[in-house]
Amino acid sequence: MDTRRLPPNATIGIFGGGQLGRMTAMAAARLGYKCHIYAPEGDIPASQVSAETTRAAYDDAGALEAFARRVDVVTLEFENIPVEAVRRVNEITPVHPGADVLEICQDRVLEKKFLDRAGVATAPWAEVSDRAALDRADAAIGRPAVLKSARFGYDGKGQAAVRAGDDLSAALQSTGATRCILEGLVDFVCEISVIVARGADGAVASWPAVENRHAHHILDTTIAPAQVSPAVAAKAEEIARHVAAQIGLVGVMGVEMFVTRDDGVLVNEMAPRPHNSGHWTIDACDTSQFEQLVRIVCGLPLGATTRHSDAVMKNLIGDEVDAWPQILAEPGARLHLYGKAETRPGRKMGHVTRLSPRTGK
Ligand code: AMP
Repeated sequence: MDTRRLPPNATIGIFGGGQLGRMTAMAAARLGYKCHIYAPEGDIPASQVSAETTRAAYDDAGALEAFARRVDVVTLEFENIPVEAVRRVNEITPVHPGADVLEICQDRVLEKKFLDRAGVATAPWAEVSDRAALDRADAAIGRPAVLKSARFGYDGKGQAAVRAGDDLSAALQSTGATRCILEGLVDFVCEISVIVARGADGAVASWPAVENRHAHHILDTTIAPAQVSPAVAAKAEEIARHVAAQIGLVGVMGVEMFVTRDDGVLVNEMAPRPHNSGHWTIDACDTSQFEQLVRIVCGLPLGATTRHSDAVMKNLIGDEVDAWPQILAEPGARLHLYGKAETRPGRKMGHVTRLSPRTGK
């Protein structure tokens, strides 16, 4: 594994050009690094703050090779980068996190199998590869349940609730997929997540567990730290650190979990990149999730994850961003806008973090 320490002025390649790439590039710039974005889409918020952009498809072999030769290391801000692209680039320049980690996190079946092997508790689940398998899964898991496409599902996309009386064929059709998992519906008290970082040398750092509240299947608010018992908070961090070590992460990962009524902690899913529920770390911690990723891919020591303040992070979704002048006028509110050209319903346009004096551990 490559553990070279890259000096300032080196160039970090980033697959994906959204707000996560943008905030990674801003953290990189602070440490004297340049960024080169690789993304296929037209509106690339990360490009506005990066030295270079390659606008090309993820299967453009020539563009991938040229990109790999122009950068010193590569990371990603989007977990659905085709693993073939990552493998191709990695033959020339190291990519962190690697293709093996991505492969698991891109596929809910592989992800759940990995979690089972790692001894990590999840909702009861069964693999669904065709209609007959769905009947078997339904018999094993029971209802209520949720059917999720194995691939390319996020923010509630590719999911169907399966309640008593629901038609299974219709549910399967509505996911738009053939490979799925059926998961028992968890009667959770709250949803939490932990951001964990792991260096190539195996050093691990994590931030405290936070509570996440969703609106219309999209993260709306993150409360840091989560208002859970110290035992639940400790268990959640422990699980995230275990997952990072077991999967061999080199980078930053968001681990989403459910807290059950009996104080159990079940992992829902993992995202091997900076995570929306970690944005508060920019304003409330010694080292943000973005700076930590830069440190890791550049072979620098991990930074302290100490939280100096409590925080509430509110995403500005769609036209909520129109409130920016009022937010700017609010003492202590830290406004982050992503420079997206077009406001659309459901689109993450920015976020605001409100700090308060640190309480508790
Ligand atoms: P996901 O795409 O897996 O993150 O799911 C999106 C959201 O759906 C989660 O944040 C939960 O609010 C809800 N959800 C997903 N899976 C379950 C489950 N097994 N039980 C209860 N709620 C779930």
